[in-house]
Amino acid sequence: MKATIKEIVENDLCIGCGVCISESKSSKMILNNKGFWVPKIDNSFNEMAVKVCPFNPNPEKEVQDEDKLSDIFINNYKFKHNRIGKYNNVFVGYSNEYRETSSSGGVATYILEFLLKEKIVDHLFVVGQKDDRYGYQWISDVRDLEKISKTRYYPVNLEGLFEHINNKVGKIAIVGIPPFLKAIRLKQYYYPEYQEKIKFLIAIISGGVKGTFFTEYLAQKSGINGKFYNPEYRLKNLDSTAIDYSFGAFDSNNIFRKVRMQEVGNMWGTGMFNCTASDFSDDVTGELSDITLGDAWINPYRKDGKGHNVILTRSELADFIINEGIKRNELIIENIHIDSFIESQAGAFRHRQMAMKSRLNYFKSKNNLIPFKRKRLLENIPIEYKLVQKQRLKVRNRSIALWLKYKDAALFDNNIKNDIKTLKVYTKIYHKVQIIKKKLGIKSM
Ligand SMILES: Cc1cc2nc3c(=O)[nH]c(=O)nc-3n(C[C@H](O)[C@H](O)[C@H](O)COP(=O)(O)OP(=O)(O)OC[C@H]3O[C@@H](n4cnc5c(N)ncnc54)[C@H](O)[C@@H]3O)c2cc1C
Repeated sequence: MKATIKEIVENDLCIGCGVCISESKSSKMILNNKGFWVPKIDNSFNEMAVKVCPFNPNPEKEVQDEDKLSDIFINNYKFKHNRIGKYNNVFVGYSNEYRETSSSGGVATYILEFLLKEKIVDHLFVVGQKDDRYGYQWISDVRDLEKISKTRYYPVNLEGLFEHINNKVGKIAIVGIPPFLKAIRLKQYYYPEYQEKIKFLIAIISGGVKGTFFTEYLAQKSGINGKFYNPEYRLKNLDSTAIDYSFGAFDSNNIFRKVRMQEVGNMWGTGMFNCTASDFSDDVTGELSDITLGDAWINPYRKDGKGHNVILTRSELADFIINEGIKRNELIIENIHIDSFIESQAGAFRHRQMAMKSRLNYFKSKNNLIPFKRKRLLENIPIEYKLVQKQRLKVRNRSIALWLKYKDAALFDNNIKNDIKTLKVYTKIYHKVQIIKKKLGIKSM
């Protein structure tokens, strides 16, 4: 039976990409009371709206998942890997010019600059400062690039892409997280005129989509009580490791306040303030993009607070840009083994691919709608990891309910600490059991 956009939203399967809005006469994206973008539900969606949804429970067979879509869109590839799909080359490195002002190595901003300067594309659709917060915007002038460097752990949506694309003359490059790029590929499949027009896709590896509550909480943790602006999520500590970064924002007296993320605790592994749908994306590495960029949190690169990207290429154009950057001495890049790349995202593969079946079963048992997922990635996980999964889901749900109730970081911390403690205990047990299993020669994760 076909699902509707309303059902997808009600079952927490909406990631807030906003591509369905392009298939509606009157709907628009709204921020819901949990701090996530969702489409406003009305009767104006046509039958294509669900077809372009990346979490459609009943997709058409030809485009049912990332494997099928990559057969259509990713053709000139050298290698294929079970967990990361098709690819050509694997690198680690940074951009000389943009490293300092970027989140990781600045390669995203470098590529965008290259695409515009070399007139490979005419417009970028990228995330940057928008009004007093962050959102996608159109950029056609290289001089505006500095506005868009840096990762924003803030909910954004692609609503404006298909609203304005037909008024844009020339070609377009887009930066996005994997499920957003899937929605764009679906749109390109059903509307082939966008295949040439959308020339280049950069995937940003994403540990999850955080709602607005995440920023509100961090602002309070940095010492701001009340209004704040210009939040910065990835302030580097050049004298420390890459993982030792800070959050900061201006308070209403124009004082910039900061908090080290290591002091706040593990905001990613716990799933706090995460959008549920991001747990249902088994595409960790942006398999439908021309190029994928992430943080090189592996040795020896993690020791360098200036930051490095891990990079996967999937198209000739992506390899051309990287090679040109190296030749021009603008990119400092070296090849790494695919296993190192996989190691850099090990937690994400465990959570989003290996534990997918257990999450699907759990949601099914609650009579929830579930999205269509690649069968080849579904596997059984041991009981000790199922416990971690269940507790993570609890922490995620509690984090949103508690912030809705208190909007106060001290009260929030006090009320969630026991759930976090339990998660830590389960995680410790899980790790210990894996060590014992390895020693005994039993299959471990
Ligand atoms: C929500 C989120 C979660 C992430 N989780 C991980 C992770 O688990 N593991 C990992 O290795 N890397 C993760 N990253 C990616 C990482 O933080 C860097 O963005 C990436 O390595 C590119 O770094 P850079 O220095 O090349 O980017 P920069 O040169 O600083 O440019 C950043 C680019 O990201 C775009 N951008 C900023 N915010 C968003 C957003 N919310 N959605 C889409 N695009 C955006 C901007 O348009 C810009 O083009 C995450 C990024 C985001 C946005």
